[in-house]
Order: sequence, then C-alpha cells, then structure tokens
Amino acid sequence: SQIPMPLGLYSDRRNSAGFEFGHRDNLERLMARIGQPLPEIAARPLVPGATGATSDEAVLSPADRTHKVGTVRNATPADVDRAFAAGRQGFARWSRTSVEERAATLDKLADLLEADRDRLLALLALEAGKTLDDGVAEIREAVDFCRYYAAQARKQFGEAEVMPGPTGELNRLSWRGRGVFACISPWNFPLAIFLGQVSAALVAGNAVLAKPAPQTPLIAFEAVKLFHKAGVPEDVLMLMPGGGDVGAAMAAHPQLAGIAFTGSTGTAQAINRTLAAKDGPIVPLIAETGGLNAMIVDATALAEQVADDVVMSAFRSAGQRCSALRILYLQEDIADGMLEMIEGAARELNLGNPLEITTDIGPVIDEKQKAMLEAHIAEMKRSQKVRYAGKVPATGNFFAPHIVELDRPEALTKEIFGPVLHVVRWKAKALDQVIASIDATGYGLTLGVHSRIEATIRKVTDALDTGNIYVNRNMIGAVVGTQPFGGSGMSGTGFKAGGPAYLSRFAVEQVISVNT
Ligand code: GLU
Repeated sequence: SQIPMPLGLYSDRRNSAGFEFGHRDNLERLMARIGQPLPEIAARPLVPGATGATSDEAVLSPADRTHKVGTVRNATPADVDRAFAAGRQGFARWSRTSVEERAATLDKLADLLEADRDRLLALLALEAGKTLDDGVAEIREAVDFCRYYAAQARKQFGEAEVMPGPTGELNRLSWRGRGVFACISPWNFPLAIFLGQVSAALVAGNAVLAKPAPQTPLIAFEAVKLFHKAGVPEDVLMLMPGGGDVGAAMAAHPQLAGIAFTGSTGTAQAINRTLAAKDGPIVPLIAETGGLNAMIVDATALAEQVADDVVMSAFRSAGQRCSALRILYLQEDIADGMLEMIEGAARELNLGNPLEITTDIGPVIDEKQKAMLEAHIAEMKRSQKVRYAGKVPATGNFFAPHIVELDRPEALTKEIFGPVLHVVRWKAKALDQVIASIDATGYGLTLGVHSRIEATIRKVTDALDTGNIYVNRNMIGAVVGTQPFGGSGMSGTGFKAGGPAYLSRFAVEQVISVNT
C-alpha cells in the first residue's frame, strides 16, 4: 500500500553524510570535542560601515539560563539604510558574476560547514537547545541546501534557453537576480532555514540582507562569516540582527526587491500588507508558515509503527517544527489501545541537557514560549481532557510532552508550537468528516496517514491539497531534494524549499529576441 517513490530523480547529487551515533569511538571523540567550553561569540551587524545599537544584549542558553553563550548587538534603522545602499553596489557586481562562480561558492560553503560540524553542533545545542541528533540532522540539511541549490542554479540558470520560433529570429530566455533581497528566518532551524533562504537568494544573483530570529543570532553570525569565507563579498551578504522592528524596516524599504520569510502566519500576513501598501516595484513574498498538522489513523494501521511515528512527529524537537503533528485523528475502535501505547512511549522520553547523548528532548526556546504553552494547557484543562503530562527537569526552559483529548476538532483553533499532542476520535465511516475538519482549518503544511487500505490513502491524498503528506511513516524531517518542503493556504506561498521550483521566485526572466 505504499505510494511509489521516483527513486533516482536527483541521482546527480549526493546528500550530506550522517553521523553514526552507535559507533563508540566516533561518539567518544565527538563528545570530547563538544564538551570543550565554547568561547563566547559577540554577534553584530555585518554591514560595511554599520555601527549597531549602543549596547549589547546577552544571549542565554535555553537549557540553562545562567549560561551566557554570547552577546548580540542589534542593527539600527540607519544600518538598514546603509545595508540597502551597500547591497545595491554589491548586487551590481554579483548579478554579473557567472552562475558557475556563484554555485561554486555554495559548494565551497558546504565543505566549510562539514569541516566545522562539531563546533556548530555544540552551538546549536547551546544557543537553540538542539539535541545532538537534531543538530546533526540540521547541519546535514544546511549542507544539502547549499549543494542542491548550487546544482539547481547550474541547471536552471546556467545557459540561456533557446525558445522555438520562426526562421530568421533567435529567442533566448535567461534568468537574472532581482536586486536586494531580505531573508527573515526563525529560531527553530537557526542554521538550516537561515542558510537555505540565503543560499537560494544568493545563487540566483541577488544581494541579501539576512535577519535571523532574535533568539538565535550567534549561529547566524557564524554562518554569515562562513559565507564570506567561501567567497561571498561583504556587501553582497549582510547580517542584520534584530527583532520585528528591523524586519519591518526591511520589508518597508523602497529598495527591497523580494523577501523570503519563514515564521508565523500572522507575521507573513503583516509583511504582505506592508508590501501591498508600497508604491514602486511589485516584489514577491516567499512565505513558509505554520500548520495545524493532522495525522489520520484508521483501524487497519500497524499499532507499534503508529506509536513510534506519533511520538516522533509530535514530541521530537520539543514539537518546535512547523511540520510537527498537532492533532491526531484516531479511529474510535482502536483509540484506547493506541493511546495507551503512545503514552507508554512518551513516558520513556528523556528530557534534559541537549549536549548529553541520552537526551531525547531539549528545552523550548525561551520563557515566552514556555509561558504560552503553560497557558494553553491551563485553557485546555477548563473544557478538554488533559490525559498525560510528562515530567520536566528542575531547571531550564523545559516543557513536558502533553496529550490532550479533544471532544471535537474545532476545540483547537491555532497552531501550538510545542510538544502538545491533541487527539480526536472518529467513527468508522466518518472519514469524510475528518477530511472536512482538516480542510476547514485553512492550513495545509503536513499530513500523516496510517492505513493499510489503499482506497483510504487515495481518498485522503486526493481530497486534501496539503503540501507534504506522509503515508505510514512519521511526518517530520523532510529531506532536501527528496521531500521538497512547504505548504499552501495559510501555511505558505510555495515554492517548496529544497525543491526544483524554489529558485524561480528569487529571479526574474528575460527574453531577448533577435532578428537574425
Ligand atoms: N522542514 C522541517 C521538517 O520537515 C520543518 C521546517 C520548519 O519547522 O520550519 O520537519
């Protein structure tokens, strides 16, 4: 009952190597290296001539708020203007470099990232609370984005395409960069998503102002230094640390040529309004936002597999993935047994220091997220059934996995960005209602289906236009070039990251017709 996969479609490109945690010597060497104290990092705007704010802010580790990982000096409104002015000059040169030169820069960056893996792994754990497992996966994704977009750029932008036409006329289509692009990225993939947006925009020929999330400026600072080391000029890629005010100033700037944003649906809508209110060029927004991601499980599903996949999809990375499972639809007949198994598996999860190899789940990113999750559970307790609450370590920003049983799907109206699994029971024959409820949310990012009936799988996948559908497996961890990632509706604009169309919106087409 598996949907056939087009294997070998991207066989001209290899994915980054993994890390064998089961290999003892390997692991001991890694632990010795990442156990060394990391020197404090002082992040600041990387913009020629920028001063930054007058004071620095401490960046604290989410797993241990007494641990200062570094400091950040944010960009000012004057720095935003300075960066656009420098970016215009950078763009004038960069857009005229060859596609090969730009692609080779990304390949070089991929090598630099792989060589720096252990330090980045420690930094991902310290600044973003990533477990080692998640950190390895994130670095691999970052490396894959570089190599994938380099390969795509060569393929799509490398040569002008000769279009068919009448004799005596030569029509050639080519692509060029748009100008100064803004990339605004989230804290949950502070390396992979940050670098994915930036590398796509750069390889398409744009200059880039990159604003990382305020929670994770240090990894971004290190990443931008690696881009520069790989050969991207300092007026072509600029780092703009800061909060929503810096992002808003970038979006409102008259010289903005396009914007890539990953984060909340509300912020994407606000950016859209800002762009719509401006005179001058009409520029694209490439948005990847959230979801009320569902998994449908029917009575024919393989119970052990479901339990594993649910725990992985809902709780791994502390549920801080936009792909994570939020609402599980269990067919009534199997619901009690399934919930017992899922709870049993959840109870085994180890929350703690992300740098320990035995840790399954690290902290949530900050106090604000933790308070939001606590408030959500308090609200759920008033009208719904909270049937499982895990245990948390005594210190740090931890939030335990929770399982909440809803009396109806509409009891959950917004994305809850953390390890909270909501469960609804459905009656056999009521699959249409389940589909309608999922459709009614307006989101369409990820969806899981567990069933051994081909017709059920087909019905669900036909009915919903969710961006990424996972059948009889977990629903997180899309792999670059294998599962191009991104949703529709309130979940984003497309094109999919790590997919063959992604670069298109970062560039403009030009057709030259010559009478020969
Ligand atoms: N691409 C990631 C995944 O498949 C999620 C990205 C995100 O959380 O924004 O799990």
